[in-house]
Amino acid sequence: GSAMLDQDTISALATPPGRGGVGIIRLSGKRSGEIARAMLGFAPEPRRAHYAPFLGGDGEVLDEGIALWFPAPHSFTGEDVLELQGHGGPVIMDWLLERTVTLGARLARPGEFSERAFLNDKLDLAQAEAIADLIEASSRAAAENALHSLQGEFSTRVQTLVQRLIELRVYVEAAIDFPEEEIDFLGDGRVAQRLSAVCESLAEVRASAAQGALMREGMSVVIAGRPNAGKSSLLNALTEQETAIVTDIAGTTRDVLREHIHLDGMPLHVIDTAGLRDTPDAVERIGVARAWSEIERADRVLLMVDSRESDAVDPMAIWPEFVARLPDPSKLTLVRNKIDESGESAEPDFSAMPPVIRLSATTGAGVESLKAHLKEVMGYQATSEGRFSARRRHLEALDRAGQALTHGVEQLAGAGAGELLAEDLRAAQDALGDITGEFSADELLGEIFGSFCIGK
Ligand code: GDP
Ligand code: ZN
Repeated sequence: GSAMLDQDTISALATPPGRGGVGIIRLSGKRSGEIARAMLGFAPEPRRAHYAPFLGGDGEVLDEGIALWFPAPHSFTGEDVLELQGHGGPVIMDWLLERTVTLGARLARPGEFSERAFLNDKLDLAQAEAIADLIEASSRAAAENALHSLQGEFSTRVQTLVQRLIELRVYVEAAIDFPEEEIDFLGDGRVAQRLSAVCESLAEVRASAAQGALMREGMSVVIAGRPNAGKSSLLNALTEQETAIVTDIAGTTRDVLREHIHLDGMPLHVIDTAGLRDTPDAVERIGVARAWSEIERADRVLLMVDSRESDAVDPMAIWPEFVARLPDPSKLTLVRNKIDESGESAEPDFSAMPPVIRLSATTGAGVESLKAHLKEVMGYQATSEGRFSARRRHLEALDRAGQALTHGVEQLAGAGAGELLAEDLRAAQDALGDITGEFSADELLGEIFGSFCIGK
């Protein structure tokens, strides 16, 4: 890491605020040892549980509990760490925290313990992020993925790519340095072969990371369609709650409604948009504009039609203006609703372009097919094997690396310019370094650790 490590001793409540059986204060930094001696009245032994009174400034007992002492470097942060496990009440925890501050610690910022662990090379950036993901995980699948990342699964795969890029660079740079060599290093096809092998591995890591990001961040699904198609009813059917207002007056859903659900651990952000129609109503027009901005950002767009009104499955025939405005028509799925009244079968057609789902939002027929379809289009895999948590930030870094390599392949195929290829290889390596935080800027670190909770 490039960021400066400050010398303060930091202190924070490591357990959630409020009341609990146990509350833990954690300290990290040089003064932790002297604070331990002041609060315990003796020097604790490394990595042993001491049951002891915790003392105030006049020797009075503030609480009693377990003290754990982890001298540097064998601690989470790599610094001297003291943990005081007391009774988990807000008053007692405040007392203890105040006492540590009086003794020279300062309150930690969010994520500061993890940041120090990163700066002291206890973790790389992807692993530190995995800690936050693990804490925030809202499903077992997400937690499993975060654990895999924390254990280094993602970092190892990135490191392997970096290693191969370095080897390739050495080879290419040798070719540049010895142009008079008889053997044409760059032209003999071996560089091209290795380059394409690295590109392939990168694509594999990208696919796994995309899966991990999906499980962490979820996919957004917009339900679009004309007023009264049954959009709000479908949102209700999916969330199995009465969140959206369902009425038979066209134009009821004026704003955008969101719900978060899980499909086998995959978070899904379902967005019900205002009916898309031209309207003189100013408020409704704002709703329509918001609907469009949601549609433009969505991972999947469900175009919902009332199956009683037409048999069409070609969105161009149903609503050409809508299709024309879609940024990516391949994200479209046609949903034919109200089959309970049209008499249509619930048979989906997954292979049509766009795929067609037939359902009834009110009876629930066909809703399972829609769920299966959503999992399928997002490349959901049931097995947790080889899965790890990843963020959009990581995907962007992998994409930058991929672009640099693609550019490098072109350079090689073109003029065979070794210098330019070497330049691209270095750019790819830098992009990958952003994932593990090898050369990351302070702002990036601040942004990442600032989003952690306090005490982590
Ligand atoms: P939205 O304007 O697209 O959000 O449509 P709503 O969900 O508010 O539904 C409009 C009307 O259609 C309501 O009266 C719903 O009860 C009705 N409706 C929605 N889905 C179905 C369905 O699958 N079958 C039948 N028979 N009626 C439905
Ligand atoms: Zn609605």
